[in-house]
Amino acid sequence: MSGASVKVAVRVRPFNSRETSKESKCIIQMSGNTTTIINPKAPKETKSFNFDYSYWSHTSPEDINYASQQQVYRDIGEEMLLHSFEGYNVCIFAYGQTGAGKSYTMMGKQEKDQEGIIPLLCEDLFTKINGKNTDNNMSYSVEVSYMEIYCERVRDLLNPKNKGNLRVREHPLLGPYVEDLSKLAVTSYNDIQDLMDSGNKARTVAATNMNETSSRSHAVFNIIFTQKRYDSETDNTSEKVHAAVESESESDVTFSQEGANINKSLTTLGKVISALAEVNKKKKKVESFIPYRDSVLTWLLRENLGGNSRTAMVAALSPADINYDETLSTLRYADRAK
Ligand code: ADP
Repeated sequence: MSGASVKVAVRVRPFNSRETSKESKCIIQMSGNTTTIINPKAPKETKSFNFDYSYWSHTSPEDINYASQQQVYRDIGEEMLLHSFEGYNVCIFAYGQTGAGKSYTMMGKQEKDQEGIIPLLCEDLFTKINGKNTDNNMSYSVEVSYMEIYCERVRDLLNPKNKGNLRVREHPLLGPYVEDLSKLAVTSYNDIQDLMDSGNKARTVAATNMNETSSRSHAVFNIIFTQKRYDSETDNTSEKVHAAVESESESDVTFSQEGANINKSLTTLGKVISALAEVNKKKKKVESFIPYRDSVLTWLLRENLGGNSRTAMVAALSPADINYDETLSTLRYADRAK
């Protein structure tokens, strides 16, 4: 079965200090599901896009499009978590220029009410598991992995000593996987938080060493959630494995014309997502022409993007006129995913 179309949200962040000091103007308007961008060089030239959600953040919480971290989680994370209990592979990813708010949306901050989709989803996952644990015929287990893809190479963020380039292989039944990637069992939200923190530190260290090229890296946080049902009459055990993958893509690449600047993973992710959107629109069941193999990121996410899966994307936007080109390209990318 082919997945339903991708849920697409756009979220504009508040002005940062650099934009404020340059007295930047806001070129984004939101009303209902519609997001409009104004060309600062030709203010009458506007482009409007419709998304499942358009999130505003830099005015008062009374603003109709304002969305707190909890609101974003309720709209996107909660729905995806429910799908994972139903047996779907789930993928949530953030896209956008560096500094546009991807980490804030996915990870957030540890202060009260500032946690992002991943911590809120993990917390909810364990609350739901503990609530269901009264059913003696069911058992649940959760494992996580965390990797970084940089220049088509895969690094284990939960085992940073393993500096090597991990091999990407294909299992005949389970599909693409990373050989030797650490997969750690967790039994509480705190366990996940500790692993996420240490993985993020491994990322930052590497990013400093990589200087400006760090913005081409993608972090993929994987939650492997297994539900087992024990059938007492026949003594059978059936097992369902649901992987909820959180992929956070980081890039300041703007689909520029210079070939060298094109980020292969992001370009391919865009192609894959719009090809899947076409499959859904035409209600075709054929997914054979979808170019998963063209990048490591899309190859590894194959089972989470197509097939038995549900995907959500949050496109992060800067409000400022000085980022017009990047913001317009992010909106176009998000538009193609619908
Ligand atoms: P990215 O991961 O895309 O590079 P970040 O998530 O690090 O960007 O965001 C850059 C800065 O903007 C951070 O200091 C972050 O806390 C802040 N920020 C981003 N989005 C929001 C938002 N919706 N509300 C408040 N602050 C935000």
